[in-house]
Amino acid sequence: MDEGYIKFQAEQVAGSIVQPAEFDQLNRARTELFDFGLIGSYDNGIGFGNLSLREQGQHFLITASATGGERVLRFAQYCLVESFSPERNLVRARGGLPASSESMTHGAIYAASPAVQCVMHIHSRVMFDALLARPALHTPASIPYGTPAMAQAVSSLVKNQRQLPVLFVMAGHDEGIIAYGAEIDSVKQLIVSTFLEITQHA
Ligand SMILES: [Zn+2]
Repeated sequence: MDEGYIKFQAEQVAGSIVQPAEFDQLNRARTELFDFGLIGSYDNGIGFGNLSLREQGQHFLITASATGGERVLRFAQYCLVESFSPERNLVRARGGLPASSESMTHGAIYAASPAVQCVMHIHSRVMFDALLARPALHTPASIPYGTPAMAQAVSSLVKNQRQLPVLFVMAGHDEGIIAYGAEIDSVKQLIVSTFLEITQHA
């Protein structure tokens, strides 16, 4: 991360969280994306990819930090983000595991559009390169991940869209792609159909 930025902090709030009715659907979508290699971990062990689901208001359930490498997650590997501040680079979440810095981008999307219920962040070399070559919808390459500027850029991108679901590239976050929408399955389907369309023509 660039100098001058406040170090990311994940604050954990004690207490249990209630499993939402759509949890199994969300977790199954995650496993499907894992099987396509769009969520997982790199050779160095660092995990990538996360899914979230809006709960009440701006609260959202999200896969916890460092869970990318596991094919099937348990509910205990999710946490509930209760507040976040891009300016202070701080996320406050309830649950047994900390939220990742990527939670900030999810939060910025929920805050920008009340219709959004689900956000998925995946990594894909082939999709990233193919979509930027078109060029598809993307945040500027000059804006790195996990910064207040990224939260700002994502927020204005979301506010400019008139339809759901939406898929865009974070050009400043290598391999980083986000999709969001009003339902779990429409968001997952947009990712899978885009992936298949690109890989079948590659
Ligand atoms: Zn990422």
